[in-house]
Amino acid sequence: MTAKRVLVIGAGPAGVSAALWARSRGLTCVLMEREARPGGQLQAIYFHPRQLPGVETGDGPEMAAASLRQLEAAGVEWHAHTSARSVDSGADGPEVTASDTTLPDQVTRHRADAVLIACGLARRRLGIPGEREFEGRGVSLSATRDRASLAGHDVLVIGGGDAAFENALLLADAGSRVTLAVRGEPGARRSFRERVARSDAIQVLTHTRVTALIGDQRLRGARLESAGGTHERECSAAVIKIGWAPDTAWCSPPLATDGDGFIRVAPGGRTSVAGFWAAGDITRPALFAIPLAHASAAAAIFDIAGALLDE
Ligand SMILES: Cc1cc2nc3c(=O)[nH]c(=O)nc-3n(C[C@H](O)[C@H](O)[C@H](O)COP(=O)(O)OP(=O)(O)OC[C@H]3O[C@@H](n4cnc5c(N)ncnc54)[C@H](O)[C@@H]3O)c2cc1C
Repeated sequence: MTAKRVLVIGAGPAGVSAALWARSRGLTCVLMEREARPGGQLQAIYFHPRQLPGVETGDGPEMAAASLRQLEAAGVEWHAHTSARSVDSGADGPEVTASDTTLPDQVTRHRADAVLIACGLARRRLGIPGEREFEGRGVSLSATRDRASLAGHDVLVIGGGDAAFENALLLADAGSRVTLAVRGEPGARRSFRERVARSDAIQVLTHTRVTALIGDQRLRGARLESAGGTHERECSAAVIKIGWAPDTAWCSPPLATDGDGFIRVAPGGRTSVAGFWAAGDITRPALFAIPLAHASAAAAIFDIAGALLDE
């Protein structure tokens, strides 16, 4: 009897965990990842993740590199630069169309006995002029990662949550002058707001929308819009910290999602469409955390194995 084939979409902690568990259940697993490397959000964790029993050292990228070694050691077939684009519950089983991110016009179809969607969260983007153009030339997505190069600059930090306020405090400590542009009222925890209020190096602009990032070779300013009108403000760097969100437009419909785009699942990860399961952050777990991603992926693989091996 040929082994049943599970297609896993996304090689973050949930997808990698699923691929490793699949073998133990006698399933053949193929893993599809849109980026060049596995890891997902691990690639954005520039400290040793907390509360991980048995993992003593290493930041997110180091853990991601270890995941890749584990996939290779387990002989898992995985495809980088492969982005899932649509799903279909075909007569012969679930199907996914995907494209090579380097050749987006070339679409391939993948059939499997079961599909597990583990595509996590993606950074929210402002979608304004200059955002992509100046990335790496003044625009940063993380002050933790880019602290050394941002030190001493006039930095515009965009966002009003914990991450934006924490980044502003970190930059103030590094000797930068910081303007925090918050679209509405700050949502950051009180301790961060109080520390920011006490800092002479940080100015907070509430009800202020950034509508463009401006420059030539490098970033040199931003266009801001508030009740007082539109004005340009000079800055030599900007850090965008506006959170993470699910990106499920490609699979919903047919898969049912909640109002924020998270895939609805039953216990064991079954989605609203036969043949499709989901695990990890994309299912809005109680906590966005690595252990929950691992656990929900393992549970989904057990559920898939139960469903397929009973057939
Ligand atoms: C800054 C930061 C710090 C954190 N700190 C901690 C911590 O200390 N401890 C902790 O436990 N957790 C922490 N987390 C949370 C943890 O990283 C996540 O809960 C975990 O990564 C979720 O795993 P996932 O596999 O569900 O999703 P993700 O990690 O988001 O991985 C999803 C993968 O799917 C891929 N993908 C998406 N769409 C497609 C598509 N259409 N086709 C193909 N591939 C696709 C993505 O490229 C990505 O590789 C942190 C997160 C961040 C951002």
